[in-house]
Amino acid sequence: MPAPNETADPVDLGALDPGRLDGAAAAALAAIAGADDLAALSAVRTAHVDGQQAPLMLARRELGALPREHRAEAGRAHNAATAKVRAAYEARLVELTARRDAEILVAERVDVTLPVDRRRRGARHPLSLLSDRLTDVFVAMGYEVAEGPEVEHDWFNFEALNMAPDHPARSEHDTLYVEPAASGRLLRTHTSPVQIRSLLSRPLPVYVVCPGRTYRNDTIDATHSPVFGQLECLAVDEGITMADLRGTLEVFAQALFGSGLSTRLRPSFFPFTEPSAELDVQCFACRGDAARQPCRVCSDEGWIEAGGCGMVDPNVLRACGVDPARYSGFAFGMGLERAAMTRHDVREIRDFVDGDVRFGLPFGSEG
Ligand SMILES: [Zn+2]
Repeated sequence: MPAPNETADPVDLGALDPGRLDGAAAAALAAIAGADDLAALSAVRTAHVDGQQAPLMLARRELGALPREHRAEAGRAHNAATAKVRAAYEARLVELTARRDAEILVAERVDVTLPVDRRRRGARHPLSLLSDRLTDVFVAMGYEVAEGPEVEHDWFNFEALNMAPDHPARSEHDTLYVEPAASGRLLRTHTSPVQIRSLLSRPLPVYVVCPGRTYRNDTIDATHSPVFGQLECLAVDEGITMADLRGTLEVFAQALFGSGLSTRLRPSFFPFTEPSAELDVQCFACRGDAARQPCRVCSDEGWIEAGGCGMVDPNVLRACGVDPARYSGFAFGMGLERAAMTRHDVREIRDFVDGDVRFGLPFGSEG
């Protein structure tokens, strides 16, 4: 008995003919092998592997139309061809993905030996930071910030501040005058003229804090500079007493050197205040404790000189048209460089004017 297949008429297998299946598979394998990158492989997948119009996909649709006795055989042949193509596709996908990743690693490699094309961060000047911080202390107590010109008139700098023409501080030895001499102009020797300008221009009561740059005829060395920063405060109101001054300075001293430090006032003399005093703050390093000395911050004094102060002299109030019988006031002034040198253990005042950013960086960029 011949086999059933051999007795039937030859059947047209169409796209499922073994020869055509082999041809479609061979074309797919060749296209896969020829794909040079992932984009090309993606196109090959659509055209040859599982796209709607891929020959192998079209051939599978014809399976259902075959006579039953041919269907299994043709299905196996089709599966074998499809599996071979899929395996080739997956292998090529792995290969091309690895190649793409390797290329990205090369293309995006960072050469850490190249010089960095980036500007270094700058820093605010330590004196500006200190000035801002101390100004903020007074602003928090209700003071307004007042400023004035650095080229000042003699009257504001000296005369209105109760410094007569024969006052020693007015000699050319200490003061930088601006030519011509008859102009009466000079580089202000302190920020006190801003107090005068404030009293003349503002309604009473006056509470101002005056930070600014001042000038003296000094040669620069480790502890002297012809230009230096000051910060002053002035309060003029009814009923102001030394007790108000003392309380204000305690708040200020703690902001500058730290909390829990005592303050003391030592009698002194300034032409524009009466009585006058030097403000001392307990040394923040040794706190006056002999067991923690020798102390190079205070030279074993236990106290740090923080500035000069006093009750505003009635002559100064009168010069500004303020009635000393009704109003009284206090003033306080300090040198910023000296405070910063003490606070941060800076040995050379020149470091503040050299302009080397490396000096400023450790102070940070914020107050
Ligand atoms: Zn000390």
